[in-house]
Amino acid sequence: MMKLFDAHCHLQDPKIITKAPQLISSAVASGVSYFAVNGVSEKDWDLVKEMGETYPSVVPCFGIHPWYVAERSPQWFETFKSLFETTPTASVGEIGLDKGSKGREIDFSDQVGVFRQQLELAKELNKPASIHCVRAFGDLLEILKSVGPFPAGIILHSYLGSAEMVPEFAKLGAYFSFSGFLMSMNEKKAKKMLKAVPSDRILLETDSPDALPKAEASCLYFVEGDPSLPEEGNSALDQDSVANEKSNASSDSMKLPKETLNHPANIHTVLGYVARLLDMKNEELGELSYQNAVRLFSYAGAGDVSGHSQNHSTTHVT
Ligand SMILES: [Zn+2]
Repeated sequence: MMKLFDAHCHLQDPKIITKAPQLISSAVASGVSYFAVNGVSEKDWDLVKEMGETYPSVVPCFGIHPWYVAERSPQWFETFKSLFETTPTASVGEIGLDKGSKGREIDFSDQVGVFRQQLELAKELNKPASIHCVRAFGDLLEILKSVGPFPAGIILHSYLGSAEMVPEFAKLGAYFSFSGFLMSMNEKKAKKMLKAVPSDRILLETDSPDALPKAEASCLYFVEGDPSLPEEGNSALDQDSVANEKSNASSDSMKLPKETLNHPANIHTVLGYVARLLDMKNEELGELSYQNAVRLFSYAGAGDVSGHSQNHSTTHVT
């Protein structure tokens, strides 16, 4: 069976944490071998650490996401640093810059300061960092140039930037990770951008529970409704989380409630979409992206993942 690596998700998210064991086991059964689970604020770091200890398939990642920069504590950086001593398998993420509608509410110079500190530590520790960037690619490139290059790699998660910027980021050590959000980008533009990405830098992710792919509902995995949550978000989801339970074939995910959550097994839908735009076979892209992720997440201290490491020499960072 084809193996896949979900290079970026949030299985610790309070919206799905009670179902994480089932989500992980059904995604593993579908062929997902690893999940890079990204913390977003000090509040969820312990949970991410615990998930990493509980599930051999979980790669724990710690970071402060730009949306949560304002709520950091005065000792956040000490706590952040100490996590990498107690969790040698961990990498850095989710960190980044956001000038979108939600990011604009957070002081941008604070975002830059917190981002740089985390990025510098990732570089110092020789670990990859998972980066979120919304409407701030110019600022991002400038910061990456001043802190980088990044021989251990950085992940431009859910990349929706231009084809033109790809070589500049790649030169610094960037990997490009694609999620269901890619389906909202103009197809021609997406194709051009994908073709600009070096083949040894392509990754796939779900960003679960966010980024539900825009696809036929019959092709998707759903997260079962949680009776403890308000009704609206879950009314369409009272089905089993296994995809081969066909739902109404005429409905697609765009007609589902906006709050519909994304299952990590939907990486298969992302794979199919990216493979189609790249004129590749699913198996071929699956294998390529898996090997890229295994190489990236294999560093000193990494457990299981490094055991699968094949070749460190393909990544050339100048
Ligand atoms: Zn994310």
